[in-house]
Order: sequence, then C-alpha cells, then structure tokens
Amino acid sequence: MSESLDASAFTVAPYSRGELVFHIAGGALNGLVWMASLVWLFAHWNLQWPWIALAILGGIYAADLGSGLLHWAFDTWFDEDIEFLRRMVLQVREHHVYPNRIFRIHFLHDAGTLSWIALIVTAPAIGIAMLLDAGAVVLGAAVFSLLLVTMLVFHKIGHRARQPRWIRVLQKSRLLISAAHHSRHHGGNHDFNYCLINGWADDTLGRAGFFRALEWAIARATGAEPRRNDHEWLRRFESRKA
Ligand SMILES: [Zn+2]
Ligand SMILES: [Zn+2]
Repeated sequence: MSESLDASAFTVAPYSRGELVFHIAGGALNGLVWMASLVWLFAHWNLQWPWIALAILGGIYAADLGSGLLHWAFDTWFDEDIEFLRRMVLQVREHHVYPNRIFRIHFLHDAGTLSWIALIVTAPAIGIAMLLDAGAVVLGAAVFSLLLVTMLVFHKIGHRARQPRWIRVLQKSRLLISAAHHSRHHGGNHDFNYCLINGWADDTLGRAGFFRALEWAIARATGAEPRRNDHEWLRRFESRKA
C-alpha cells in the first residue's frame, strides 16, 4: 500500500481524457460486436427451443461466474500500486470500507471498462461460432456480454435496502442477486460470495471450493499471499468504517 494513502485518497481523481476515450471506445467496439451478433442471429435463425434455453442459461451462468472471477481477482491479488489498475483497485477497496460509495460511480464508467473485458472474451468466440454456424454459442455469448457489461448494476441492486416489488420478486426467485446473499461477502473476510449477477456460480462452483483451489494454485506458483492488500486496507480503515 502506498504510504501516502489516507482517507482522502478514497476521493479518486476526476476521469482523465484518456480514460474517457478508453471507456467510449470499449463501449462502442463491444456494442458493435454485440449488435453484429444479434443481426447475425436474426439472419441465421435456426435454433430449437432447448438450444435457446441452454444458450440463455449458459450465458447467464457464465456471466455470473465471470463477475465473480473479476471481483475475486481484484479482492485477492491486485494492489493500487499497479498503475493501470489503480482506479479499479481503489474503487474495490473503498467499497469494502464504505460500501455505499459505489452509488457515486456512474454506470457509463463501470460499463466502459467492463466492455473491454466483454469484447476480449466474446469477440473471438462469436467470430468462430459464426464461421461454424453455431447459433447457440453466438446467443450465449451475446447474453454473457450484456450481463458482464451491466454486472455492476446488479451489484448496486444487491446493496439497495429498498427495491421495487418486481426486483424483489426476481431476487426471491434467485434470478437476481439479493442483499442477503451479497451481504455475506461484506460481513466476512471478503473471501466468498463473489458473484454479482445472481449468485448461481457462488452456490455451485464457489461452494465446491473453486476460488480456494484457484488461490492455492496461484499462491503456490507465484508465492503471493491472497488478500494481502485488502487486509492492509482493512487494518488501516476499519475504525472509520461507516
Ligand atoms: Zn458489494
Ligand atoms: Zn469484495
């Protein structure tokens, strides 16, 4: 942790022109790939309903797992001294100390960075699936991309005390992350319930020890200590937790 970092450092610097261009470019490029996949699906529609259901459920599950993997990686391994990850690490650490400050971050900034990740993951898969005429993969990737880009909207839903009735119904049906599910992440050592869309991957792979196994392998390969930076932050700011 940087020695100069104190509570005022939570107030992250205004977005630079370079960051804004980066966010807009990510959103535009990923949006183009997403629209192309919808146009292609429309023009090549030959899917039977079991494949449609499988593609949609698979896309939702993969996006939930993807949200968990990203959250886990930031909570477990990165620190704010890595220049190009600094803003994201600060936002994640700040969130553990002051959970409600995420509502200050505009959707477009969240979505800009996540668009690049969705683009890198889905563009090659969508391209290959189009060449192979694998419509279910194109549909699944399009569902994955949409949910990954909007995953922090779901995270905010998991932090809102008051919700419209239809959202509460979706949460009760386990189709959306609930405050009860996500609060277990914040109440503990920040080492479980990482997934932010509906928690399906937490309740399956997570419970089966997926994240612990990944941690064990990475710690063994690199010698790094899981959550070292997060624990430093908590030691430093625990007393100020609001
Ligand atoms: Zn949270
Ligand atoms: Zn966390």
